[in-house]
Amino acid sequence: MNGNRTAIGVMGGTFDPVHNAHLMAAEEARIKLRLDKVLFVPAHTQWRKAGGSYASVAERLEMVKLAVTSNPYFSVSTVDLVRGGPSYSIDTIGDIRTEYGPQADLFFIVGMDALKDLPYWREPAKLAQQCKIVVVDRPGYTIDWSGFDAVIDEPKERIKLVHCPTMDISSTEIRRRVASGESIRYWVPEAVQAYIEEHDLYK
Ligand code: ATP
Ligand code: MG
Repeated sequence: MNGNRTAIGVMGGTFDPVHNAHLMAAEEARIKLRLDKVLFVPAHTQWRKAGGSYASVAERLEMVKLAVTSNPYFSVSTVDLVRGGPSYSIDTIGDIRTEYGPQADLFFIVGMDALKDLPYWREPAKLAQQCKIVVVDRPGYTIDWSGFDAVIDEPKERIKLVHCPTMDISSTEIRRRVASGESIRYWVPEAVQAYIEEHDLYK
């Protein structure tokens, strides 16, 4: 806490599975923006490509819980799972705002790949009023500011860049590696790796 201000990071994702780049991004944002905590919010519904193997909602939630337990500043919020249906960021932030009250400073953390879709998010202008958007680097992506002026006011005020060490890893690549019997050691926390093995996920 800084005086009366409570600064809360919100890290949404499908987390199928959660991996070390998610954790690194959240921790760097926490330190650089002096956040009091970061909430990991597993999405309820995700777009799925045909032919892949995916974890259930319960399994994704369990893996996120395992991943964050060793960090006292991290916790899991089930607002998207409780609400159900497609998980729109505006609803996620709305529910977290209700929980923490009008005084809370909310920081919605996204990777650069996710930011480029901002113009297509539901009510981007309202979202940008309700929280600050924090963008972390992701290998292969850069910010194109030109698309944002049309959808939110003062994009450079509302969207904050946090540079963090980048890792070219994704849940998609982790699922592919598990399916083909390759190691995911150091891609995910040990407890998550053990959970994937025990529950025979992504085969
Ligand atoms: P998938 O391959 O299934 O899409 P993912 O690795 O992109 O998985 P998500 O759950 O889609 O993970 O992402 C949740 C959030 O984390 C998004 O904001 C995304 O941009 C960010 N993110 C994911 N991987 C990275 C990474 N390697 N570096 C920076 N940000 C990342
Ligand atoms: Mg993704």
